[in-house]
Amino acid sequence: MSDTSSCYDPNKNPSLLSVEKTLENIQNGIEQLSRVETLAIRDALGHVLAEEVISDINVPPHRNSAMDGYAIRFDDIKNNPETKLNLVGSSFAGEPFSGKVEAGQCIRIMTGAMMPADCDSVIMQEQVDRHEDVISVIGSHQANENVRFPGEDIKQSDVIVQPGKKITPADLGLLSSIGIAEVTCYGKPKVAFFSTGDELKSLGETLGPGDIYDSNRYTLFGMLKQMDVEIIDLGVIADDKDLIKQTLLDAADKADMVLTSGGASVGEADYISEILNEIGAVNFWKIAMKPGKPLAFGQINQIPFFGLPGNPVSVMATCYLFVQPAIRHLKGISNDNQLKLTARLQNDLKKAPGRTDFQRGILQQQDNGELTVSTTGMQGSHILTSMSLANCFIVLPKDSSNVNKDEMVEVMPFNDIL
Ligand code: AMP
Ligand code: MG
Repeated sequence: MSDTSSCYDPNKNPSLLSVEKTLENIQNGIEQLSRVETLAIRDALGHVLAEEVISDINVPPHRNSAMDGYAIRFDDIKNNPETKLNLVGSSFAGEPFSGKVEAGQCIRIMTGAMMPADCDSVIMQEQVDRHEDVISVIGSHQANENVRFPGEDIKQSDVIVQPGKKITPADLGLLSSIGIAEVTCYGKPKVAFFSTGDELKSLGETLGPGDIYDSNRYTLFGMLKQMDVEIIDLGVIADDKDLIKQTLLDAADKADMVLTSGGASVGEADYISEILNEIGAVNFWKIAMKPGKPLAFGQINQIPFFGLPGNPVSVMATCYLFVQPAIRHLKGISNDNQLKLTARLQNDLKKAPGRTDFQRGILQQQDNGELTVSTTGMQGSHILTSMSLANCFIVLPKDSSNVNKDEMVEVMPFNDIL
């Protein structure tokens, strides 16, 4: 047997690549997509902005009231807070008061309504004694109280969103607040993927002896869907050299990134390495991580390619740790969205030095505020239930060994792709 992955001793193989170095190599091997499209802002949600957006207007556009109350001339009460003021009109949101407000007069005003030109302060209604059309102010006050000024949120000519920003619901609000209906965004990456393996059956097929259902295509579908890419599912491809070659070329033709699962570990029936060396420039790495040691990465016809491992948990871990940042890079999103926290371990964990472990855990916050993490149980790379139960990876450093209950460990809470 030529596949030694199951009995691989990292201490005898210094060629294992660290997780950090793997990430760096991948980021260096991927270029941001240059395709752009102009989209109505609702359709732009989740896309990455390709242009600077500059405001033509001030937001708010006019001085307005922050409270329901009475707009006054502060000088009227500055020296004598008990001065009575005569109510001479009202200003509602969208229906401003356009008359003159003389000394000793005031205006009823509602939140968001434009300030009358002659008034500079708003006394909230709870701090006013009103008898018919005469008010007196209760308590002490300041000039400009409860007034919002033009441009307080956005100033005319301000850049309100920078290129490279993923458009969030708050950005839809921000863009619409300055009257922008369309924005130029980078195109969504198209990601093609397929499973390899003669043992794999698709849903609806009957399992023969030695067969299993293909689950990787479904986990990958789910993760890619959450990453907001266009998905091209090419199905299950048998371990047949010509078929795999043809499918890879076809995938690279249609997509901006190609993923496969299975066959990356250079096993006896793993044709992928041989084919990839014919049609692309691909590196085969053994990564110092568990699960998910074998990973192929490179290009087929200039299109980035990942040959993910076959084991179901390894696929999810390598997709999370490597494909996800690669897709963010393709999209032009530069910042990392991965939190790293520290939590108190609730179980003993087994760990051999030599590889970084990404064990599956359940992160919780206790009543006293402390973060704790417990294992999901069996951690084999084929135990998919460990992923389903988990909400985080427990990250045990490369050179560490067994960890005991109550020790503090690093956890990576799953973000919204898992
Ligand atoms: P391989 O990398 O092809 O040697 O596969 C490693 C292990 O993962 C084997 O037990 C395969 O049966 C399993 N495996 C490979 N592809 C899939 C898949 N798409 N769904 C579920 N298990 C798979
Ligand atoms: Mg296989």
